[in-house]
Amino acid sequence: MIIAIDGPSGAGKSTVAKAVAKKLGFSCLDTGAMYRAVAWRALADGVALDDAEALGAIAREKEISFGHVAGDPVPKRVFIDGTEVTDAIRTADIDKAVSPVSAAKPVREALVAQQQRIGNAGDYVVEGRDIGTVVFPEAEVKVFLTASDEERAHRRVRQNVDRGVGSIDYDEVLADLKRRDEHDSSRETSPLRPADDAVHIDSTESYIEDVIERICEMASS
Ligand code: C5P
Repeated sequence: MIIAIDGPSGAGKSTVAKAVAKKLGFSCLDTGAMYRAVAWRALADGVALDDAEALGAIAREKEISFGHVAGDPVPKRVFIDGTEVTDAIRTADIDKAVSPVSAAKPVREALVAQQQRIGNAGDYVVEGRDIGTVVFPEAEVKVFLTASDEERAHRRVRQNVDRGVGSIDYDEVLADLKRRDEHDSSRETSPLRPADDAVHIDSTESYIEDVIERICEMASS
């Protein structure tokens, strides 16, 4: 079974996806981390962010894998070509670089194929922007998760502090979220949009536990 969770940055997809996976005993795939890992490698190798072919080559040739922190069933560690990039992919530089990287068609082709291979191997909660529309259009459960711009920016600031990645400026985060939403929604390839059959959930006013419960119920009905 596939549970697809799509939505804009900071809507709570990662928290919800990981909790749903834990509750149901599913695996969990963070597809945004894959685009971020490619962006990290491109910056590290000095690849131009408008060179779609070179970016595509990274996505095709550099293996992206996930690992577990001891005692946690949900994989939270990210590797590309054997190098751990779990924290390195959560910086402001990567937030900026990931938009052009994810708009490159050869990158999307390579990563979508990998995501389908991974998800088809078992029961998965898959989170991203195009999971219900492109990667798994046949997913049994599709959720489009949103929250207000301000709430999403607050969450991203708190998340960075919790991760110990350092504090970030709220106004900068808000501006970046809006810029990425605009970019993700207006790009030619796989723009961010809800699948026709997705259930819309706004998490601004809801307890995250209620959102998690609702998705678990959808999966078992
Ligand atoms: O989810 P996260 O914010 O980590 O994703 C980083 C970026 O990767 C997004 O802003 C988006 O541009 C891209 N992305 C995508 N398709 C996905 C997942 C993420 O284009 N399925």
